[in-house]
Amino acid sequence: MDDKKEIKYIPICQNSSLPKDGWIHECYICASRTARFWPYRKEECDEYITLYQIMLCPICQYHYNKRPHKIKNLYEYIECDIGIEPNVDIINYQ
Ligand SMILES: [Zn+2]
Repeated sequence: MDDKKEIKYIPICQNSSLPKDGWIHECYICASRTARFWPYRKEECDEYITLYQIMLCPICQYHYNKRPHKIKNLYEYIECDIGIEPNVDIINYQ
């Protein structure tokens, strides 16, 4: 196990003019600017790790944490939207 692997972050967010490789992106739900996210998918190969993350501002995170049954719907919606399956169990991050 080599934890010095490079990590590539892929934000799942609203389209914006913000740099794709920056920390700040637009919240997937409300488009406010945030560095907060929930993990969506992790892919590991020999050279690097790719992490897909849903950008979610604190207000939208609060909204979903209050309504956990809606989190599954959100992940299903994103899967349709971007055509990439999630492989991270969000419950482990609550
Ligand atoms: Zn938001």
